Amino acid sequence: MKFLEDFYYNQDGMMVFTESYHLKRGYCCGSGCLHCPFDGITIEEGAQGGQSSNLALVQCPFCFESFHLPMNAEDGSEQHFVYDCEVCCHPIALTLHFNGDELLSVSAEKSN
Ligand SMILES: [Zn+2]
Repeated sequence: MKFLEDFYYNQDGMMVFTESYHLKRGYCCGSGCLHCPFDGITIEEGAQGGQSSNLALVQCPFCFESFHLPMNAEDGSEQHFVYDCEVCCHPIALTLHFNGDELLSVSAEKSN
C-alpha cells in the first residue's frame, strides 16, 4: 500500500483507505469506510466473524507474497480466472476447486 495513494491518516490518527485502494482491491470490506466506492454492497452482520469462509489464501507465483482472495463457491465447483496480485500486480492464473461450499484446492500459476 502506498501512503496517500492508498491510505492516509485522519486527525484521530486512524488509517483511512482511499477510494482508489478500494477499487484496486475490488470489493468492500464492510466496515463502512469513508471512501468506499461500493455503495450498497455491505457484508451482512454475522458474516463478519467468518470472513475466512469466503476468502481463499493465495500465494503469488511471482513475488511469493500471500494475500486473501474473495471467492464465491456458488460460482461453480471449478473456477478459472486471472487475478492481479495485490502485492506486485502481476496477473495470476487461478484455479479453484470446491466441494459444495468447501474450498478443496487453490492453484496459482503465472499468467501471460
Ligand atoms: Zn505478487
